[in-house]
Amino acid sequence: MSEPLDLPSLWSHEPHEHLKFRPGDLVADIDADATPGFRGNKQDAPTLQEERNVRFAELQEKLYANSRSGDHRSVLLVLQGMDTAGKGGIVKHVVGGANPQGIQYHSFGKPTPEELSHHYLWRIRKALPAAGHIGVFDRSHYEDVLIVRVHNLVPQEVWEPRYDEINAFERELTDSGTTLVKVAMFVSLAEQKKRLASRLQRPDKYWKYNPADIDERLKWPLYEQAYQAMLDRTSTPYAPWHIVPCNRKWYSRLAVTELLIEALKRLNMAWPPPDFDVEAEKKRLASA
Ligand code: AMP
Ligand code: MG
Repeated sequence: MSEPLDLPSLWSHEPHEHLKFRPGDLVADIDADATPGFRGNKQDAPTLQEERNVRFAELQEKLYANSRSGDHRSVLLVLQGMDTAGKGGIVKHVVGGANPQGIQYHSFGKPTPEELSHHYLWRIRKALPAAGHIGVFDRSHYEDVLIVRVHNLVPQEVWEPRYDEINAFERELTDSGTTLVKVAMFVSLAEQKKRLASRLQRPDKYWKYNPADIDERLKWPLYEQAYQAMLDRTSTPYAPWHIVPCNRKWYSRLAVTELLIEALKRLNMAWPPPDFDVEAEKKRLASA
């Protein structure tokens, strides 16, 4: 299937290459207003998004179809970001365009007492995507080296080894056929303030507001350190992080869509061949 004609002119570089975290990249230097690699403008976004959602949905269906004939591969989208970065918007506007049959969505909040009584990866393992599915993690095991580190919810001797443990866990996942698409979403402090203010102004947004969001906001320098350590220590060749600037929602959605499309394309899937004789079935149907 050929790519839409206007795509090469709208992206100057493959977004997955452009957005990939590179050693030495600094969280403090991220410009959340930026639109790396995108040459079009905001007006191009809705049409392009629609077009690319169709492409994404087609690839997702191929993944699902192949699992019916024994392909065990899956994809896991990991979304990490501060409140208001737009994780929910990605789920709604990017993933939402695909067939829900093949999507396994999980959001990870404060662990329940039962979850806390287990190893931190216990609830994560339970939520991993089945063969042919795209798992979507709205927050993830990375909370266990982010909020947990920032708030000293466990001592450093406990969270420190988690980086290596997470790498080993993700190695195991990729070895068993799960492609990870890890997306760190960055919104600026000023834009976060605007988005929180708008949640306080609209009754239809109150449900998204949590008074604790302000406490987290006040700890931004500590979060910056924690995000930096996360990127430095868990961006691996088999499960790299991508940095997505999120002040412009239209950009972050387009970017994550491209990251998903690229990951699915790399699976080199064809439609599964029939396990029946097509011509014979046509004849049978004609006289049925
Ligand atoms: P939200 O995503 O806005 O529903 O908020 C969920 C909250 O749960 C966030 O403040 C997360 O940081 C917090 N959370 C998620 N995972 C953990 C964890 N493992 N330990 C402590 N807090 C967590
Ligand atoms: Mg929240």
